[in-house]
Amino acid sequence: MQTAEKGKGNNMVEKVDHIGIAVRSIESALPLYVDVLKMPLKGIEIVESQKVKVAFLQAGETKIELLEPTSNESPVHRFIENKGEGIHHVALGVASIEERIEQLQSEGIQMIDGKARKGAGGANIAFVHPKSCGGVLYELCEKEKKGDVHDD
Ligand code: ZN
Repeated sequence: MQTAEKGKGNNMVEKVDHIGIAVRSIESALPLYVDVLKMPLKGIEIVESQKVKVAFLQAGETKIELLEPTSNESPVHRFIENKGEGIHHVALGVASIEERIEQLQSEGIQMIDGKARKGAGGANIAFVHPKSCGGVLYELCEKEKKGDVHDD
């Protein structure tokens, strides 16, 4: 217990929960991921709050999240217009997301979401502003607790 738990207080990130990829069309993108890269499709859902359709693909211990805008108002639509399709965000799996948001803000980090909101799969999520993270859009992602948290 003592040795394995060393430094646990500093371990804010449990794992990279998923990597978000902006695509114009999930239907067009899926054959590459499923048939060529051989990632099992875990599910597709609409996330109204972000005006996106998302598809989750299992990539070993982490996941790939394809994001297709459902409206021109979607931030993902603006992202594709500006930068084209490609890596959109990296999601860091955390516990106690509200505490993590407070901690980051207390360190002077700018949040896009000052409060957690519901994301895909019923997770609580909050985006960190890329201005505070060297141009990388990070998402904090807290999953519903289910069973063994070390190996889901
Ligand atoms: Zn995400």
